[in-house]
Amino acid sequence: MSASFERGINAFKEVIDAPVASFFSSCVHCGLCAETCLFYTETGDPQYAPIRKLEPLRRTWFQEYTLLGRLAKLAGLSKPVTDEELAAWSPLVYDSCSMCGRCSMVCPVGNDLTLMIRKMREGMAADGHAPEGLITATTRAVTSGSPAGVKWVTVQAQTTPMKPPTAASRSALPTSRANSSAASSRRPRNSRSSA
Ligand code: SF4
Ligand code: SF4
Repeated sequence: MSASFERGINAFKEVIDAPVASFFSSCVHCGLCAETCLFYTETGDPQYAPIRKLEPLRRTWFQEYTLLGRLAKLAGLSKPVTDEELAAWSPLVYDSCSMCGRCSMVCPVGNDLTLMIRKMREGMAADGHAPEGLITATTRAVTSGSPAGVKWVTVQAQTTPMKPPTAASRSALPTSRANSSAASSRRPRNSRSSA
């Protein structure tokens, strides 16, 4: 087990607090949450069911915090979460959830799936399975204050109101533009009517 993976599993264990544990233990596998998730309804692929997206976190809870799960793990009946599995799960957890909250609204036992997906993202980020672009944007936000790397001078330029041109700035225009501007100012307003 690599150090980063161990850190990630520990982060998983840390995010499993009382609400998360009670959500997992109260799930009745009715599938209603799947019917509200657009990623599932648009594809029909069971991997996009909200509760399914949480599978590595659910297994960590089962194996670490329930007696049955601990026994199953000891007997080799419950598959341990692996680094490869988390890497494969990253697109499901990050790219296949908009955090819209629809799944949390319909769960008949009150499971807040959106909160659980957010918790799972915390664990995934801790062991380096967050998407590369997200890591870069977060680093930029911390170091420069902008996830897109926009500098303060750019913000100032975009937010400073434009001043109307002065006679001096007009005369500073290049000759050809100045001529064309002069020509257009001499042109009658309705050139068609004069034709
Ligand atoms: S709606 Fe709730 S109880 Fe039903 S499968 Fe989803 S999480 Fe489990
Ligand atoms: S919060 Fe995520 S998992 Fe839940 S319905 Fe919205 S997109 Fe699907």
